[in-house]
Amino acid sequence: MLEKRDFYINGAWVAPTKPQDHHVIDPSTEEPCAVISLGTQADTDAAVAAAKAALPGWMATPAAERIALVEKLAEIYQSRSEDLAQAMSHEMGAPIDMARTQQVGAGIWHLKNFVRAAKAFSFDSPLGDHAPNDRIIREAVGVAALITPWNWPMNQVTLKVGAAAVAGCTMVLKPSEESPLNAMIFAEMMDEVGFPPGVFNLVNGDGPGVGTQLSGHPDVDMVSFTGSARAGVAISKHAADTLKKVHLELGGKGANLVFDDADEKAVKRGVLHMMNNTGQSCNAPSRMLVQRGVYDQAVETAVEVAARVAVGSASDEGRHIGPVVNQVQWTKIQDLIQTGIDEGARLVAGGTGRPEGFNKGFYVKPTVFADANNQMTIAREEIFGPVLTMIPFDTEEEAVEIANDTPYGLTNYVQTGNPERANRMARLLRSGMVEMNGQSRAAGSPFGGMKMSGNGREGGVFGIEDFLEVKAVSGWTAE
Ligand code: NAD
Repeated sequence: MLEKRDFYINGAWVAPTKPQDHHVIDPSTEEPCAVISLGTQADTDAAVAAAKAALPGWMATPAAERIALVEKLAEIYQSRSEDLAQAMSHEMGAPIDMARTQQVGAGIWHLKNFVRAAKAFSFDSPLGDHAPNDRIIREAVGVAALITPWNWPMNQVTLKVGAAAVAGCTMVLKPSEESPLNAMIFAEMMDEVGFPPGVFNLVNGDGPGVGTQLSGHPDVDMVSFTGSARAGVAISKHAADTLKKVHLELGGKGANLVFDDADEKAVKRGVLHMMNNTGQSCNAPSRMLVQRGVYDQAVETAVEVAARVAVGSASDEGRHIGPVVNQVQWTKIQDLIQTGIDEGARLVAGGTGRPEGFNKGFYVKPTVFADANNQMTIAREEIFGPVLTMIPFDTEEEAVEIANDTPYGLTNYVQTGNPERANRMARLLRSGMVEMNGQSRAAGSPFGGMKMSGNGREGGVFGIEDFLEVKAVSGWTAE
């Protein structure tokens, strides 16, 4: 079994001060695939101290040099793509082809977007023509703790590390204990790039341990967190005593509004989007709201599409969905499917239990519920599995009301052939992102939410800004 107990601190791989073994479980087989160590307070302190010591030098490094290192990182990242894909496939169950394309691809996309955005970014500029002696300097927030989840692991790590690095922050990354292996490969890349010692550090650990130590640490200036709303609340409370900046990217319960003039692929697209990554995406369109006139047809289509979604081992090549990440998630999803049935939603595809042919592995049947209402548990809770909830509606106003009646506000989706209606919906939906008619957001478009989906924005120039403070200077002499 792979043994990866060391942490990356101050430019070197170091043994934990006190080993605490943690097995990484392959969800396709339920067998351990690696052992790591969970850090202690002493490990966290060492990593934070290294980041703090490296901060003045890194902040003073010209932005062009910081950007050049991130550019080099993007090249090295590409050369390690297969290692990253294999790691993610084993530790979180992404089917290998999907890991190679979507999971690995997300990381390279973000790094390149940061390089482009940073090259055009003004870190230092006049306030305006009316005030020639006033200067606005955007400088690094400081030492950033980066806490990431397991579901799109390289996506999250690159969104945080890429932005922090070009902004001039030094950092301590704590990846999810469910998926630490890809992050450790990433740390090897950071080492190969030649970032100055202490700029980037990695300590493995869990939420109650290293996660909590980081969010309360007096020498950490900012926490950038992606994960559940539950942990986001805990981190915010714990970070309050030291008033550090808290950037949150949390869960979602996206609505996908399918109007009666939507294109014919809209329902299929929505179902496949829901099932992608085995439903483990914060921006999954998990509530499909369908206008009454096309509702029955939509349910029929959803059943057909779900029936064709194949389930298989993450190590098999091909276009299937893999297992969900672990036993806890599997059991939670089973309970929620049962709750959907008990509360009276109509189960039209999938259901509880493993799919046929599996007696091991955390596999879930692609599941569709029809005739749900928005008060049901399956319409309110983030299920984080391949489970779609369909709800009928009559009018535009009703669709907006249902869509916005959720504690979350990450991504909503609109399917309509009417451009004025599409734009109207974009303004009325309370979410950080609105995607229309299957068009994905462009390079540099900010990812983030409202309400219980968090307050941060990641990617491109918006992602860089979240790692910067605004300093206003008067009496500036032109240089
Ligand atoms: P999680 O909240 O359980 O864990 C996320 C990370 O936080 C892990 O590294 C974990 O060790 C750490 N953690 C847990 N409790 C903590 C605490 N009290 N203090 C500090 N750190 C703590 O989430 P998860 O199960 O890994 O990921 C799934 C969740 O992430 C879903 O809710 C999903 O919607 C969300 N997510 C959001 C986005 C986004 O950008 N909005 C992206 C991906 C995932």
